[in-house]
Amino acid sequence: MADEAAGPAEGGERFDAVVVGAGISGLYALHRLRELGLSVRVIEAGDDVGGTWYWNRYPGARCDIESMIYSYSWSHELEQDWTWSERYAAQPEILRYLEHVADRFDLRRDIRFGTRVTAAAFDEDEQRWAITTDGGDALAASFLVMATGCLSVPRLPDLPGIERFAGAAYHTGSWPHEPVDFAGKRVAVIGTGSSSVQVVPAVAETAAEVVVFQRTPAFSVPAWNGPLDAEAVRERKEHYSEYRRLARETGGGNPWHTRKESVHDETPEQQQREFEARYALGGFHLHAAYYDLFTDAEANDLLSDFVRDKIRRRVNDPELAELLCPYDYPLATKRMCVDTGYYEAFNRDNVRLVSVRDTPIEEITEAGLRVGGEELRFDVIVFATGFDAMTGALARIDIRGRGGELIRDKWAAGPRNYLGLTLSGFPNLFTITGPGSPSVLSNMMVSIEQHVDFVADCIAHMRDKGFTTVEPTPEAEDGWAEHVRALGEASLYPRAKSARSWYMGANVPGKPQVLLPYVGGVGRYRRECERVVERGYEGFAFGVRQARREAPAPVATQGL
Ligand SMILES: Cc1cc2nc3c(=O)[nH]c(=O)nc-3n(C[C@H](O)[C@H](O)[C@H](O)COP(=O)(O)OP(=O)(O)OC[C@H]3O[C@@H](n4cnc5c(N)ncnc54)[C@H](O)[C@@H]3O)c2cc1C
Repeated sequence: MADEAAGPAEGGERFDAVVVGAGISGLYALHRLRELGLSVRVIEAGDDVGGTWYWNRYPGARCDIESMIYSYSWSHELEQDWTWSERYAAQPEILRYLEHVADRFDLRRDIRFGTRVTAAAFDEDEQRWAITTDGGDALAASFLVMATGCLSVPRLPDLPGIERFAGAAYHTGSWPHEPVDFAGKRVAVIGTGSSSVQVVPAVAETAAEVVVFQRTPAFSVPAWNGPLDAEAVRERKEHYSEYRRLARETGGGNPWHTRKESVHDETPEQQQREFEARYALGGFHLHAAYYDLFTDAEANDLLSDFVRDKIRRRVNDPELAELLCPYDYPLATKRMCVDTGYYEAFNRDNVRLVSVRDTPIEEITEAGLRVGGEELRFDVIVFATGFDAMTGALARIDIRGRGGELIRDKWAAGPRNYLGLTLSGFPNLFTITGPGSPSVLSNMMVSIEQHVDFVADCIAHMRDKGFTTVEPTPEAEDGWAEHVRALGEASLYPRAKSARSWYMGANVPGKPQVLLPYVGGVGRYRRECERVVERGYEGFAFGVRQARREAPAPVATQGL
C-alpha cells in the first residue's frame, strides 16, 4: 500500500507505519511490514535492539521458556543456523541472538534509537497518526503499532527516603551496561519474583552478605538448566516445524499438550508420580499435568502442596523453609518462577531472609534500610520489584483516538479492547500482546509472532480491498471484554488479588484490579482470531478515505 505521500512531509516525516519498540515484537513487526512494501520507522527508547533483553542485564538473567522454542519461527534459515548453548539461554546470549536478527535482516536502518514516543494523536481529517517524541520529532503514519512490551516499565516500591540512599541502587529491569561488582559487598535484594529468584543465587556467589526482603513468597521450581546436547539440538532442528505447530496449538505456547485427565481421575499415588515426572523435566512442564489445575481449587491445592514439599526439601532450616512457602494464592495465579539454585542460596551463610510482612521496611536511609526499628546497612540495593505490567507502557504515552479520547482514560476502570489487539475509537492502532490476549501467560514468542502476523495480514487485506482505516466496533469490544472476564472468573487467577499479583494489576497502587491477560490459552485464542478473519474480519469496521478533509465512509461493519 506504500503511501504515495510517504517521505518528508510538512510537520515531520511520513511513513506507512510507525512501530514503537525494538524488542522481539518490534523487530518482527518491522520485518513483516517491510515485506508488505510499507515504509516503516521504528522508534526505540533504548540505544539498541532487544527490549527486555537489552534492559534486564542483571546477573543470573535468563529465559524460563526453553530457548529452542523461545526463538523466532518465521525464518527457517535462522532457526537452522542459530544454535543455543544452553537449555535456557542467559541474557547476553538472547541479546546476541536479537542483534544477529537485526543484522541479518538489515533492520537497524529503519530504527531510531534513544528516542521515546511521548504522544500520538489520530488526525481524523488526514486519517493518520501524528506521533511526537521526546526529541521533539514529529512523524505521521497511517498505522501505529505499539510494540512497547508487557514488562518494560520498571516499578520501584513506594518507600520513603528512596532518593536518600548513598550506596548503589539498581532496578533489575534497567540494569547498567557495565558489570556491577558485588565482591565483598553487603547487598539488599527487595522482592522475590522471577527476577529475584535469578539474581539472588548469582549475587550470593561473591557478595559478603545478601539480605532478601520478601513480601509474598513465590512458588519456584527448578529449571534443570544445562548445556544443550548436540543430538537433542539436531533432532529438534530436524523436526522444528512440528514442534512449532504444537506450540501454537497448546495453552501456554510450549510444544506439549496438557493432559486430558482431571486430578480427580487419578489416585493419590498416580498424582504424585505424575507431578514427580514433570518436576524432573523442569519449568512449566508441571502446569500441564492435569487440565483442571487452574480451574479447580482442590486440584491446585494438590499441586501447591507438592511444590511446597519440594521447597521444604531444598532449604536446610525448617523455619526458614516455611517462611519461603507461599500459602495465600493458588500456584501459578501469581507468576510461577523457574530457578537455578534459589532456595539452595538460603543454605549459604551469607544469605538471609527478612519477611516484610512481619517486619516491614519502614524507610530507606542514607546507609541502608530501617526495618523493625533497626537500621540495616548496605552497600548496594537491588530492586527486584517488577513492572507496571501490560498497560504501563501504553498508559505513559498520550495516545489520543477519535475525539481526542486518551487510552489512559478509556482504560481508567481496566483495559477494554478487541482481541487484545485493537481499540474502538483508535483506528489503525495495534497493540502487540496487549491486555486481553494470552501474552504473559504464554511463551511470548509464540504470542508475539501470532499478533504481528494478524496485524500484517489485516493491513494486506485492507490494501487488497482499498480500505484505509480499521477499528473494532464498540459491540465487538464489549463482547471480547465479556469473554475475557468470563474466562477469568471461571479460573483461579482472580484469587491472587490479595497476593498483589501483577497479572491483576495489584502490584501498582491505584491501578484497577482486573485480570489483565486472556486465560483461555494461545491455541484457543488463535482459533478465535482465525474465526474473526474467516468471517471477513468479524467485529471490525473498515473505512475508505474519500477525499481530503471528508469523513471516511464506513463500508464494512461486521457485528459480533
Ligand atoms: C527478566 C525477564 C525474563 C523474561 N523471560 C521470558 C521467558 O523466558 N519467556 C517468555 O515468553 N517471556 C519472557 N519475558 C517476557 C518478555 O518481556 C517477552 O518475552 C518479550 O521479550 C517481549 O518482547 P516485546 O518486544 O513485546 O517487548 P519488550 O522486549 O519489552 O520491548 C519493548 C520495547 O519498547 C520500548 N518502549 C516502550 N515504550 C516506549 C516509548 N514510549 N517510546 C519508545 N520506545 C518504547 C522499550 O524500551 C523496549 O525496548 C521475560 C521478561 C523479563 C523482564
